[in-house]
Amino acid sequence: MNEGGKITKIPLSERKATFREVSLGFTEKEALKEAQRCLQCKNAPCIKGCPAGIDVREFIRLIRNKDYRGAINKIKEANNLPGVCGRVCPQEEQCQLACVLNKTGSPIKIGYLERFVADWELQTGSIASHHRVSKDIKVAVIGSGPAGLTCAADLSREGFSVYLFEGLHIPGGVLVYGIPEFRLPKDIVEREVSYIRSLGVKVITNFVVGKTKTLDDLRREGFKAFFISVGAGFPRFLGIPGENLNGVYSANEFLTRVNLMKGYLFPEYHTPVRVGQKTIVIGGGNVAFDCARSALRLGCSEVKIIYRRTKREMPARDEEIDNAEEEGIILEFLVSPREIISDREGNVKAIMCIRNKLGEPDSSGRRRPVPQEGSEFVMEADTIIVAI
Ligand code: SF4
Repeated sequence: MNEGGKITKIPLSERKATFREVSLGFTEKEALKEAQRCLQCKNAPCIKGCPAGIDVREFIRLIRNKDYRGAINKIKEANNLPGVCGRVCPQEEQCQLACVLNKTGSPIKIGYLERFVADWELQTGSIASHHRVSKDIKVAVIGSGPAGLTCAADLSREGFSVYLFEGLHIPGGVLVYGIPEFRLPKDIVEREVSYIRSLGVKVITNFVVGKTKTLDDLRREGFKAFFISVGAGFPRFLGIPGENLNGVYSANEFLTRVNLMKGYLFPEYHTPVRVGQKTIVIGGGNVAFDCARSALRLGCSEVKIIYRRTKREMPARDEEIDNAEEEGIILEFLVSPREIISDREGNVKAIMCIRNKLGEPDSSGRRRPVPQEGSEFVMEADTIIVAI
């Protein structure tokens, strides 16, 4: 139930052993109750808080009237990925932060309402399409992550002939290889891609622009414009000793093995992902939490996240931090890694860290971590995931 503003989740006892989506979202009754709380404010600051400019007030009004088709169409005027955004947008820093009901400590759960109508559309099986007649101008969108999907859909709605090129075998980019099933089910991404196809976008997978064909090749084939949305696929490392040891992953590699290659279903799927009994994840964003919670579900008995600042500065969503703590992930604050330590066979056996204190704010506006020399200490680990 939605009493007290809480969202129903699958039982905690199941969560550690399943990649099923954790949050169950609103039932119809809960969605209607939440929509009724909306004050339908005259100036609706929630709309300005939405980076996509969704008419939040109006789609909530339509939900109140049980006009769910109208509500999803209203959202899609501004946002082609409602099932995704209703789940993974940081609404608490955007539309919900702007909601006047923040003054009461209980803003409207706009993201959950968006998700509700997106899922309603999925369940009814009728996806509205707004395909227009083509202008017969070919445009190539390179990379099918959220930016590419959005650009392709918008251009197609404007009548361009859009080809969406994806290097991997499945479209979706970071939505499929980066975000785990327990936060964003793959069938939701597939549904969004189906909708974008229904707008007339031609999706071409296993096609690496620059290798399969160059931009010049595509130009010769009649493409008039290119939108390059290839994301941030390269991992970043810390530059500390021991990062080449067996058992050290970049978050990109770890999550790709788990999410895209379904490593958690080995041997049914042939991409094993090894975690030992003690995993340490370095970082403080959503990606770090995705890694930690995936490691737990892969059978790791102790998972820690180490972060160089405090919980207050953590960039991860509060909801994900709460979920991780409920699941038993241990959070270590004001800690920075110094060296990853090897056993005799080149495997990770421990990590040496140093404790920090917070100093003055840096260019990000957050207080800078200042290492406290002499506070070094060692933590045992057999898997390290770098998620910075
Ligand atoms: Fe409703 Fe909040 Fe937007 Fe006002 S600011 S219209 S209460 S969602």
